[in-house]
Amino acid sequence: MYLISACLCGVNCKYNGANNYNEICDKLFSSGKAILVCPEQLGGLPTPRIPSEIINYSKENSQKDITIINKNGDNVSKEFIKGAQEVLNIAKKLNIKKAILKEGSPSCGVNYIYDGNFNGTKIPGMGITTKILKEAFIEVISEKDLGGNKDGIIWFFQKEKRKWWRNSFR
Ligand code: SF4
Repeated sequence: MYLISACLCGVNCKYNGANNYNEICDKLFSSGKAILVCPEQLGGLPTPRIPSEIINYSKENSQKDITIINKNGDNVSKEFIKGAQEVLNIAKKLNIKKAILKEGSPSCGVNYIYDGNFNGTKIPGMGITTKILKEAFIEVISEKDLGGNKDGIIWFFQKEKRKWWRNSFR
């Protein structure tokens, strides 16, 4: 069983009320191999909502040191952390060990996030939910790791993709 970002399977939970549909993720979900989560909704944020970014990302930062603000300047760190912890609770209850999350998101990003200036600049880093899941030893990849990698980021999972695919659809 996998955790998948709900927006990747067509759920309109993205900040602008849309989704980030990904066919591979949807196939996993439709075949009963995954459950869907949206950490920002689980943290109590509305949809649509004002987009947010992490403003002080550092891989050394613990979750309590990370500050997330929305484009209006409101601090939404508490909601983001609550949502991440709810996702972790779900993963623990179902003994889920692998997750596929939406790249670039301040919650779900895996290999990169935006730099906190709301100008589209990407930096290496991960979202708060990804961080909390990884700290609990849950493997996390992004949807980009599944179907080619436009950003040139190699993840160790790529090497095992064929085996993983074979097992996933059994
Ligand atoms: Fe998708 Fe994650 Fe953003 Fe929810 S928080 S819309 S699941 S990227």
